[in-house]
Order: sequence, then C-alpha cells, then structure tokens
Amino acid sequence: MLKDKVVVITGGTRGIGYEIARKFAQNGSKLGIIASRMSEQAIKNVDELQKMGTEVRLYICDIKDSEQVETEAKRILDDFGNIDILINNAGITRDNLLPSLGIAEIDEVIDVNLKGTIYVTRAFIKNFVRQRHGNIINISSVVGMMGNKGQTNYAASKAGIIGFSKSVAKEYGRKNIRCNAIAPGYIATEMTGALTGDMVENIKQSLPLGMLGEPSDVANLALFLADDCSKYITGEVIKVDGGMYV
Ligand code: NAP
Repeated sequence: MLKDKVVVITGGTRGIGYEIARKFAQNGSKLGIIASRMSEQAIKNVDELQKMGTEVRLYICDIKDSEQVETEAKRILDDFGNIDILINNAGITRDNLLPSLGIAEIDEVIDVNLKGTIYVTRAFIKNFVRQRHGNIINISSVVGMMGNKGQTNYAASKAGIIGFSKSVAKEYGRKNIRCNAIAPGYIATEMTGALTGDMVENIKQSLPLGMLGEPSDVANLALFLADDCSKYITGEVIKVDGGMYV
C-alpha cells in the first residue's frame, strides 16, 4: 500500500526521522527529506536511503522560516508532482528551569517545534485538498501530555502540536485527509544522548517496560498510521513510551 507513495519527512536525516525514512524506503515509498543543514551525516544517510532503490531527494530548509518552507514545498511538489503523506518530525530541545530559560530558547523551541509544524502542514494542505486524500503524522511527545520539569518550553510546543493535529483532523476529515500525532517517551537518539548514565538508569527504573525505546518503535507506528489499515483513525494521539505515562 505504501509503494510509490510520496512521503515528506522533516528532520529525516538522523534519529527517529531517519528510521522512519528507512522504513518507508523499505516499503518502496518515494521520499522528500527535509533537514535544516547539509551535514556529512545527512549526505551519508540520504545516500544509504537511495541505495535502497527508491527515489529520495534532500531539501535544505529551516522549518521555522515560513518563506523557506513555502519555497521548498513548491520545489518538492514540482519534483514529485504531488505528496501523499507528510511526517512532521523535526524538533529540538533547549531545556532549563523556567527562570533560567532565555527568551531565545523559548522562541526557538516554539518556532521550530510548533510553528514549523504548522508552516509545513499549511504549505502542503492545498495539495492534499486538491487530490482529495492526504495523511499527516505529527511527532509530539509524551511530555506534551504530562508535562516535565525543566522542559516548559518543549512541553508547551508539543502540547500545541496535539491541539493543532486534532484541529487539522476536524477541519479536513471530510476531504479524506487524516491527521494523527505520535507521542514518544524516551527514545535512544542524539536528543536523549545528552543524558548521563545515572539519568538513563533512573529513567529505566521508572519505566514499566524498564528500557528506553528505539527509533524503530516510533517508525513502526508511523508506518501503521500512514497505511490504509488505520483508515478509520484520525485526531488521535498515540503514545510510544514504554508505559511512562499510564
Ligand atoms: P534528533 O536526533 O535531534 O533529530 C532532530 C531532527 O530535526 C534532525 O534531523 C534535525 O535536522 C531536524 N531539525 C531540527 N531543527 C530543524 C529545523 N529548524 N528545520 C528543519 N529540520 C530541523 O531528534 P530525535 O530524537 O530523532 O527526535 C525527532 C522528533 O521526535 C522530535 O520532534 C522530538 O521532539 C521528538 N521526540 C523525541 C524523543 C526522544 O526521546 N528522542 C521523545 C519524544 C519526542 P538537522 O540535522 O538538519 O539539524
């Protein structure tokens, strides 16, 4: 079902986004990958995806810049002709206790995580409406549902994504466009790489499943939500968190 579908993934060059890209490539989807910068890792990973035998193109775009988003979205639509699935995965953290959070850290997290998700979705929604189908998957966080000390800016941005996803689901359901959010818990990527060994041990102890998740745990759910076997699911927020927020 996912073969030859055009999938756009923001932040698809590393971490969870790259694993999502790999899973779709394995299923024969065509990929438009968005990253904020051209890095050695981005070039290497896109090369690996291309070796999997499907069409893969890399677009450099800072998603917090609405003009760049509009320009690159047009380029993607020109290159592929249409898109079927959008995965808003790109995100950042700038953690600190509230009084110590700089204004720039508050703005950047809201701008990339929340406004970026809105800008990218807005740039593709007319395409989905015109073709009368579309599927949007937004990567939120369990922290956006339960809150977290030291992550007020991040939790607010991820809670915003949930409200946004539900609103898109209501606004476009009649146009055969679905929109769901995934709320991961602790997943082993560069983002959680900043945690010390002791912190990781404490986290594991606190989780019902007793371990961190892997990017593939999130990617498998993205595949399910993108496929027609989830065709009656929209406006949902699904946790992939090892029982962190039960
Ligand atoms: P990661 O390894 O740090 O990767 C983040 C990705 O976002 C990178 O590909 C990065 O691209 C891209 N990105 C960052 N800022 C961008 C911008 N301004 N414009 C375009 N792309 C940008 O993070 P991750 O752990 O894979 O996380 C992926 C998503 O899952 C994020 O939304 C994160 O909040 C969410 N999440 C992660 C966890 C976790 O435990 N890891 C838990 C809950 C939710 P560049 O390489 O170009 O910077």
